[in-house]
Amino acid sequence: MIDTHCHLLDSSFDKDRQEVIERAFDKGISCIIEISEEPSLWQNSLKLCRDYQTYKIFCAIGVHPNHADKYVDPSSLVEDKLVVGIGECGLDYYRKYVDSKTQMDVFERQLEIAEKYKKPVVVHCRKAEKDVYEILCRQQNVKGVIHCFSSTLEFAEKFLQIGFYIGIDAPVTYPNAGELREVVRKIPLERILIETDSPYLPPQQYRGKRNEPSYAEFVAEEIARLKKISVETVIEVTDINAEKLFKVGE
Ligand SMILES: [Zn+2]
Repeated sequence: MIDTHCHLLDSSFDKDRQEVIERAFDKGISCIIEISEEPSLWQNSLKLCRDYQTYKIFCAIGVHPNHADKYVDPSSLVEDKLVVGIGECGLDYYRKYVDSKTQMDVFERQLEIAEKYKKPVVVHCRKAEKDVYEILCRQQNVKGVIHCFSSTLEFAEKFLQIGFYIGIDAPVTYPNAGELREVVRKIPLERILIETDSPYLPPQQYRGKRNEPSYAEFVAEEIARLKKISVETVIEVTDINAEKLFKVGE
């Protein structure tokens, strides 16, 4: 099982990062994609990937919309073979720490880099579906994933139409996630990626606690339950999806 989105450099893992990583790989995680969301983290993310070469840990590097005012061009690092994507980048109109014009500008610049270096993008989209969709439509050569999908079925279908994958995280296990569960039932498994977003968004049974990559199984189990298929099938197909998009399958 591949956890396609986590933040292992978060300080909440400082005391036991190694144990968390070992536990994940012991529990059947085969590959982790570390999302490096601001320039000050990039080198450390690459170091993390290198330090754990015995495991398969790769990273995406980019600038999160909440840090858009700290934008630095990541071009000098993206050709490293451990960098498998650009992001997370996108738009966040829920928090709006940075004005929307700057966010859009920084998002577009990262899409251009993704196009130039032929890397997929990890897209953060919060209360900004319309603008994210329009910007992605203008950059048809770039594909990627809408990370931690939290919108309507209508938008899920629009993003699928332009070739994007839909990232599903543990909020799908929350009692009030009726709309998200409906999205998971309706969209093809061939376009779903499993993410934990650790240390954020723990599954229902761990709410209030820290999330970690080994909990990806709870997301897979919920997808299986909703689609009335086996967990093995969910893991098999979503792994192929992740390998295809991020080219991490050897
Ligand atoms: Zn994230």
